Amino acid sequence: MHFCIVGAGFSGAVTARHLAERGHRITVIDERAHCGGNCHTARDPQTGIMLHHYGPHIFHTAQENVWQYVQRFGKFAPYINRVKAISQGRVYTLPITLLTINQFFGRTMHPAEAREFIHQQAVQDITTPRNFEEQALHMIGPALYEAFFKGYTTKQWGLPPTDLPAAILKRLPVRFNYDDNYFSHPYQGIPIEGYTALIESILTHPHITVRLDTAFETFRNQNNLDHIIYTGPLDRYFRFCHGRLGYRTLDFERIDAEGDYQGTAVINYCDATTPYTRISEHKHFAPWEASLFSKTVCFREYSRLAGPEDTPYYPIRLARETTMLDRYVRTAMVTRNVSFLGRLGTYRYLDMDVTIGEALEACTIMDQHLALGKPLPVFFTDPH
Ligand code: FAD
Ligand code: UDP
Repeated sequence: MHFCIVGAGFSGAVTARHLAERGHRITVIDERAHCGGNCHTARDPQTGIMLHHYGPHIFHTAQENVWQYVQRFGKFAPYINRVKAISQGRVYTLPITLLTINQFFGRTMHPAEAREFIHQQAVQDITTPRNFEEQALHMIGPALYEAFFKGYTTKQWGLPPTDLPAAILKRLPVRFNYDDNYFSHPYQGIPIEGYTALIESILTHPHITVRLDTAFETFRNQNNLDHIIYTGPLDRYFRFCHGRLGYRTLDFERIDAEGDYQGTAVINYCDATTPYTRISEHKHFAPWEASLFSKTVCFREYSRLAGPEDTPYYPIRLARETTMLDRYVRTAMVTRNVSFLGRLGTYRYLDMDVTIGEALEACTIMDQHLALGKPLPVFFTDPH
């Protein structure tokens, strides 16, 4: 069969490779000038530093099969994300750990004492948190919530935390020990040659043709295609017939400096009065080569509502969007010869490992359908 795969990010690359290895002919198209999707990395022409073009990406997973899969295509260096957070003029460590708690409250508590102390801080009469703010008050109490989450979350999402789902906060742990690893997964690292090289390696197969600078809209009427796997925005595929699904986008403001600008890869700025959410210093994402560079490059991140021309980053998924998403899903379900996959195709926030895991599952489902001569599913996972 001849497949057109829209999008040369992880979702598109993993499915393209699998189908190519099964003997199908694959054309991968991407409107950007590079492979890698939002994980794209490239060396800065001025300094040689490896830059994460669409924001910093750290690979972390608990899925053994996903970790094994990526090792096939690139070498990873171990990397632990240790985030610092500035709040009210002081530096702390994030996620909230025993160090954060002791520094913030000026104490020297042991784990059990701190657990009891935070329990006392927590708002006891919230039993089932209905939103982000209630979740935070329930987990850590008002002082830590206001210092680390209220301002940052309002900047990041452009909404009061009372309007946001509790699930967003559940992404971060609270630890009663000194483990300052931002993630809790057993496998963590960064590809030494960058994500783009890794994804290019996935796409290097005699049955795969990659066409960059090619928008699907210019390609969709080709009639020699048997099936499309579409990893672009779901609403865009249907020419926004039900309206635009809301996204947050990011603006990056570049800082060029000598030496070491902030001494670490990521510092979050939690106060509402600081307009940006964080600064990342990209050479620190590659500690194995950071000392080779006398210069440094950082980016301040500003979050705002995405307009029609902006890169969609974070799906908003509030009531308005989920109602609209329902309409798109219903429209998609009666469409033939197309499957939607990935972060944009299913309008969900997906980490890289989840993206790859879902793409690998989609491959298994496709194998089963193709073996039985059945049409491929429109969605491999429920976008709701
Ligand atoms: P994408 O990478 O978005 O790829 C989709 C591709 O489709 C794009 O290249 C796009 O150009 C192309 N495309 C879309 N529409 C069309 C069209 N009509 N025609 C042609 N081409 C089209 N995950 C982690 O695990 N760790 C992290 O540290 C991490 N950090 C992140 C930081 C930020 C700021 C963001 C926003 C995300 C982060 N992620 C992280 C998530 C990660 O970016 C995603 O998991 C991953 O990019 C999803 O891959 P994908 O292939 O589904 O989509
Ligand atoms: N968050 C916060 N302060 C911080 C870091 C995170 O309030 O210093 C909130 C914010 O709402 C964010 C959520 O916690 O969206 C989850 O954090 P994560 O690091 O997963 O953020 P994201 O991937 O959304 O950038």
